[in-house]
Amino acid sequence: MMLYSTSKKSSSVSLKQAVLKGLASDGGLFMPKKFPVISDDFFNRMAKMSFNDISFEVAKSFFAGDIAKSDLRKIIDEAFNFEIVLKKLDDRLFVLELFHGPTLAFKDFAARFMARAMAYYIKNSNKELTILVATSGDTGSAVASGFLKVPGISVVILYPSQRVSMLQEKQLTTMGNNITALEIKGNFDDCQGLVKKAFLDKDINRKLTLASANSINIARLIPQSFYYFYACSRMNNKKQTVFSVPCGNFGNLTAGLIAKRMGLANTKFIAATNINDVVPKYLKTGIFKPRRAKSTLSNAMDISNPSNFARILELYKNDVKKMRNDVVGFSFSDRQTLHAIREAYNNYGYIIEPHTAVAYLGLKHYQKINTRPVDGIFLAAAHPAKFLDIVEKTLKIKIDLPKKLKKYAGRNKRAVLLSNNFKDFKEYLLR
Ligand SMILES: *Cc1c(COP(=O)(O)O)cnc(C)c1O
Repeated sequence: MMLYSTSKKSSSVSLKQAVLKGLASDGGLFMPKKFPVISDDFFNRMAKMSFNDISFEVAKSFFAGDIAKSDLRKIIDEAFNFEIVLKKLDDRLFVLELFHGPTLAFKDFAARFMARAMAYYIKNSNKELTILVATSGDTGSAVASGFLKVPGISVVILYPSQRVSMLQEKQLTTMGNNITALEIKGNFDDCQGLVKKAFLDKDINRKLTLASANSINIARLIPQSFYYFYACSRMNNKKQTVFSVPCGNFGNLTAGLIAKRMGLANTKFIAATNINDVVPKYLKTGIFKPRRAKSTLSNAMDISNPSNFARILELYKNDVKKMRNDVVGFSFSDRQTLHAIREAYNNYGYIIEPHTAVAYLGLKHYQKINTRPVDGIFLAAAHPAKFLDIVEKTLKIKIDLPKKLKKYAGRNKRAVLLSNNFKDFKEYLLR
């Protein structure tokens, strides 16, 4: 498979190059030149297939000729060693729980697959890859956990000192092995700035082979397409489902639109956002106008200029009318989010956290404005215990901390404290 850059100023690359580079040299995002189309035969069989079987079929269509089949199967089975659950809340309302991985958020699917694909690609070179990742909390832990003990790769996480929760900090700083945490005296933008500078620094790049694990990497999108096929396989009408997706950088939604291109022909997508609503506004007006991000309860979605929007524009050749056939966008306030958490609990006995609540609201709203009844699935992005304070306060209940989180609480933090000065960071990397 060959991929081109959305900026269209650099030449096309192989999948291996795209995965190892992350970003194209012209600053654009990589997109497949042609999307593989899944055979009808597969759609007829998938109802009886496991998630890993389905993932393997879809992955083969991307990686054929690139990764040997038996190795691809191994990558999938090692990456997806946890459950995925589609729950029925009522006749028309379903939830796809994507939070059963080690860090209890859907990012585990992408991070664990990407780590193993990268390890495969560097296996026979004597290169050691250094992954730099800036995090405001959750991405860092999914990436760290995904790359833990993966041979040939070391990970350096930069997080802002005293700006992540206690539990998040424990998740970032207690992995050991090939994972190092740098506690930066500054904010998230400082961390991201240091990472960006490192990628441009000649001395650092002479000594280290750097790679990026943030959500622009195509190796994070491909595995996210798998669960859309899985969800459809468990519905009565295999190809005709509405998905409501809680959106921040729009990686998850883009993966769904790719799955649609590959054969989930009649699916429809709801881009559900908090008040950071540039994309719903774009869908309404045709004008894309990023503004400063505002803080909300669904903080992983507080993004003003979603990085994957360039890919969505590319999928629809900048034609907002075409995009509207497949995607509708709605945005919701924090007040509505809290109300949805209570409603889901009271009506269905189901506990959701704020990001998932935004997706729930999106689906409920869509079902209300449609004259015909529609079946829909909202994506549950994170386990409610990850947002314990908000959920417990809103529902006036106590939630048990799952074992996967509890085990970090008793561990000792190990982090290197650094200033937000690039000189110090560079010295650390070159030491
Ligand atoms: C990352 C994240 C999102 C946003 O996903 P995108 O793919 O960036 O749109 C939503 N909810 C949670 C809990 C997340 O961690």
